[in-house]
Amino acid sequence: MTPGLPTNRFGKNWSGKRCLARTRAGGQCQKPAWRAAEGGRRCNLHGGLSLRGKEHPGYVNGAHTKQAIALRPSKTASARRSMRRVVIAGEICSLLGMFAGPHKPRRRVAERLIALEAELRSLL
Ligand SMILES: [Zn+2]
Repeated sequence: MTPGLPTNRFGKNWSGKRCLARTRAGGQCQKPAWRAAEGGRRCNLHGGLSLRGKEHPGYVNGAHTKQAIALRPSKTASARRSMRRVVIAGEICSLLGMFAGPHKPRRRVAERLIALEAELRSLL
């Protein structure tokens, strides 16, 4: 409780609008009414379902809606492509080292290099 503030703001003498919902004991709900439901005469407990989508006060631009999140590229797929790029780069370096040696690399090595380069370009 904050010192200095009245402790009975929503007590018997509170003059604001109160919720019109009926309690199981037969009385009326004592909470302040502010929800749009039933002409703005319902409290947060009796005002019905939360507002959805653009109607919700927390909605800004839709970047975090279920639909927007479902359209985002998968982080696992992105990480997998990144790992594959590292593996390809390593294999390319290893194959290029064969050209520095005394023996001429075979055609298969050159063909593998060309295939790796194409795969690497497709992953960029
Ligand atoms: Zn209520």
